[in-house]
Amino acid sequence: MDNITLARLLDETAALLEIDGADPFRIRSYRRAAEAVEQQTTPLATLATADADPKLLLAIPGIGKGMASNLRDLVATGSMPLREELLGRYKPTMLELLRLPGMGPKTVAMLHSALGIADIDALEAAARRGDLLPLPRLGQKFTDKLLKGIEDHRKNSSRFRIDVARGHAERISELIRTFPGIDTITPAGSLRRGRETVGDLDLLVTGPACEPEVVAAAVEHVASLPLIDKLLARGQNKVSFTLRNNLQVDVRLLPRASYGAALQYFTGSKHHNVALRQRALKRGLTLSEYALLRLEDNTVVASATEEAIYNALGLDYIPPELRENCGELEAAAQHTLPTLIARNDIRGDLHMHTTESDGTASIREMAEAAIARGLEYIAITDHSKLLAMTNGMDDRRALAHAERIRQVSAELAEEFEAHRGPQWQSYETQLRRGNTEARKPTVPFRILAGAEVDILLDGTLDLSDDTLAQLDIVVASVHSGFNQTAEEVTARVLRAAENRHVHILGHPTGRKVLGRDPYKIDLAQLLPAAARLGVAVEHNAAPARADLSDLHLRQAKEQGCKLVVNSDAHATGELDRLEDGIVQLRRAWLTAADLLNTQPVKHLLTHLQHT
Ligand SMILES: [Zn+2]
Ligand SMILES: [Zn+2]
Repeated sequence: MDNITLARLLDETAALLEIDGADPFRIRSYRRAAEAVEQQTTPLATLATADADPKLLLAIPGIGKGMASNLRDLVATGSMPLREELLGRYKPTMLELLRLPGMGPKTVAMLHSALGIADIDALEAAARRGDLLPLPRLGQKFTDKLLKGIEDHRKNSSRFRIDVARGHAERISELIRTFPGIDTITPAGSLRRGRETVGDLDLLVTGPACEPEVVAAAVEHVASLPLIDKLLARGQNKVSFTLRNNLQVDVRLLPRASYGAALQYFTGSKHHNVALRQRALKRGLTLSEYALLRLEDNTVVASATEEAIYNALGLDYIPPELRENCGELEAAAQHTLPTLIARNDIRGDLHMHTTESDGTASIREMAEAAIARGLEYIAITDHSKLLAMTNGMDDRRALAHAERIRQVSAELAEEFEAHRGPQWQSYETQLRRGNTEARKPTVPFRILAGAEVDILLDGTLDLSDDTLAQLDIVVASVHSGFNQTAEEVTARVLRAAENRHVHILGHPTGRKVLGRDPYKIDLAQLLPAAARLGVAVEHNAAPARADLSDLHLRQAKEQGCKLVVNSDAHATGELDRLEDGIVQLRRAWLTAADLLNTQPVKHLLTHLQHT
């Protein structure tokens, strides 16, 4: 039994436990074990035998004594007692039901016991017949939402969010790179162009091991990667397979000489490539995945790098995010492509949470993590009280929290002046690592005291004006009443934007990528109003939200909106989401000058004032 199968069995057991209403801690331990098993490069089947040293299994993080015994059972018998017991009660197809909106483990368990429903087809049929209506809490509204959810699920289940796809790309690349003679691995396709979702993964590999005479061995290495679920095809220099979540991966091993042409070709988009090939033909050239050739005598004009190909066609290099045939070829010909915003342009992050509401880190921990990521300032914006599950703050707590935030900020400033503390430590670490671009800290790191205040159903705010006036940054967001009409929700957010204490409209559309439709908000009305009022509009960088699409971001710029990109981090690691946010900004042709949080904190604060 391979690691992938072992991990899948553990994962399924976790989900079955969830349906069974088991202890969350127990469920998590199975999930963690599944992840750990999947990441192992040695086949666990060799470690989980009766005569192997038991310490080897226990050395894997996330595997305790109980889990080790489960693994030994799985390897020896193909199953384990707990799994058999659960499968006596439930079917594995019930696990897919959990991915539908409104379907928690309890509902799945109830539908199973009341109507014997165990898969999506049966659920859909029952919903259409109206069989769910008499069940407690399910009703007509639930049925309608569920049917729409099933339709979306069928449409979306073949697409993956960009961060999920990138995570897989990184893990696969790591494994491929263990083969000697591999230098470069680049994901191409929509992942490289930064689309919000990805249908399949194209990995382009090159290095001495990919030259035609020797490539067979490298192909063999790729075809036997431990995380392959189904091997679909294996050619001279290409391997196709699926992962256990059904994501299809195509790995191409290419000689260095044609790597640029392949990268250009497989990055797309289709429309960009069609336009580019037409341009080549007009110049007596022909462009393929192997090279840019002169038509008359087939001599190679360019093939090793993308730059050389674009330049030979009379174009500046076009960043992948712009390759959608939306004017980038014309701009590249006239040398007017913008210098796109990059992660290093971002100086501050203005939306994040701490343990004061639903985050997992303290004020100081968030600040130190931001410093380690080269930021100069952050705003701590914990939730207001509306949603009980976020442990939101009332006025009294919001002010006390602001006080503590300013205290930590002052401590950091003191440490900075005394040439100690995290800013200097981070700078020195970077120098030691040989980072010549490390910026010497010149000003103390600043933590702005803020809040993410709920916009109530009528557009009033969840904290008093008096409280808001005492904060440095107020992010106003909608977290409730998603069913309001376009008129209602637009008027509601506009009313909040008119409050002169509000600086930023947080995640203004509320959509979840592949998950939840946006509120019916009318951005054509909201964006110009925000521009007029001087309220900034947030691009929420969480990949699940990616709140403004590239199209919306372009509109926001055209309307003259102030824009900010924020991580909305609830844990220190989530500050890295800024990178995901930047990709969407680049797709919208934005530059550093188009964002407010590329500015030093002093300028930022003057620009955030209401006009
Ligand atoms: Zn929020
Ligand atoms: Zn938030």
